[in-house]
Amino acid sequence: MIQLKLSKIVCTIGPSSSDESTLKEMINAGMDVARLNFSHGTHQSHEEVFKKIRNIDSQIAIAFDISGPKIRLGKLEEKYLLEKDQQVILTTDDVVGTKDLLPVNYPSLIKEIEQGSYVYINDGFVKLKVIQKENNNLVCQVIDGGYISSRKGVNVPDANLSMRVPTEKDIVDIKKACELGADYLFISFVRSSNDLAKVRKIINKCSDKTIGLVSKIEHKDAIENINEIIAASDGIMVARGDLGVEVGAAKVPVLQKKIIRLAVNMAKPVIVATQMLESMTKEPLPTRAEASDVAHAVFDGADALMLSGETATGRHPVTVVRTMTEIIQETENNLSFYTSFVSESNLPKGGEIGQAAVKLGQKLAVDALVAITQTGYSARMISRNRVPLPIYAVTPDESTMRKTNLLWAVKSLYHPHNGDFNQIISSTIKKLHSEKNLQLNSDVIVVAGSVVGLPGRINTIQVLNVKETIGS
Ligand code: PEP
Repeated sequence: MIQLKLSKIVCTIGPSSSDESTLKEMINAGMDVARLNFSHGTHQSHEEVFKKIRNIDSQIAIAFDISGPKIRLGKLEEKYLLEKDQQVILTTDDVVGTKDLLPVNYPSLIKEIEQGSYVYINDGFVKLKVIQKENNNLVCQVIDGGYISSRKGVNVPDANLSMRVPTEKDIVDIKKACELGADYLFISFVRSSNDLAKVRKIINKCSDKTIGLVSKIEHKDAIENINEIIAASDGIMVARGDLGVEVGAAKVPVLQKKIIRLAVNMAKPVIVATQMLESMTKEPLPTRAEASDVAHAVFDGADALMLSGETATGRHPVTVVRTMTEIIQETENNLSFYTSFVSESNLPKGGEIGQAAVKLGQKLAVDALVAITQTGYSARMISRNRVPLPIYAVTPDESTMRKTNLLWAVKSLYHPHNGDFNQIISSTIKKLHSEKNLQLNSDVIVVAGSVVGLPGRINTIQVLNVKETIGS
């Protein structure tokens, strides 16, 4: 019986969850990573929440989500119901919107969209058809009616928009994330590895720390370029909300499975996001379909599952995390085919070493796998094999400790070790034992690099018994 939660939980923090006691309860209920969304809130409000989380638990990874080239409605006078077949004008003029005139925040929209194209608002619930272009306006007919309000998202999947990540707003937000010491950046609307290179360049100028870049897969170009994007990223998110609007909801389940498989095989953590327990935004219980969706993301092999509105603005932020933990654990306790989708490693040497370590651990029925790691690389090489054994990532780097929290089955420990290679191994085992992660009679596999301080160069696998190592 597996006791740990192997798949991790990312929670979006917002008005419902930014007070100290709720954050503490969410961490106790199973939150591993906190997501702060630059599409909402101010730099000041994000800084306050960031500091609060760091003070409560320095182990929790904090990710900032940058908006990217997301088009949004401007401010509207009130919430409106658009009726099927009515006409409505989308304008790039700076006006406060009314029922018939809706401002959008992308000045080039008129130039870059063709007559006859479709425009989707509010996650695709409202669909418009462009019937005429004139000056700064698009005259549209409502095809599918529904409610719209200020700042709702606008998607134009038929247009090849020139606006790319990072936007001017993104650059300001990235600098803020650097200043605060974020662990991850979640990057919206990535379309190619070139987008990531631009973001990395900004980070390298404003921070001496490595911030992990997680590409949100939500644009059809990202599906085309998926291999190069995964290779250039530190993690991947299946951002099902916008993805469903851009490619159609019917394609999302298969894409979810394909993207998870590719990311796992390339040893990059992968998050499944959006509407996982959506009804719990209001209700205290999930629908059975939602429980099943969470379980299937676990079956698919995701590293982590994300909660968005459920924890940011929902009524039951703690209950929803507890519910997700329960579903994950129940599913993991009944999984028997973890490795069926992990291919032989086609990664460089580290991938082979990780796979060999895991196979040896299974054969010898060890109690845990230990990665002594500077950057988290060896923990990734072990975790990708999806073997249901605890993996301890022991690191002298606080940011690596937090970042590895996102990885499947990994429990991270900060251990500012010193001494030679053998001393580091025995002090690591001592720490794991003294903190009750390992018992005296436990056998473990330890993966590490024999040249101390050289990151990403694992070259040893050791089979150790705790008592013998501590006694030696
Ligand atoms: C999504 O579109 O699924 C997503 C996670 O992005 P956002 O919540 O930023 O729209």
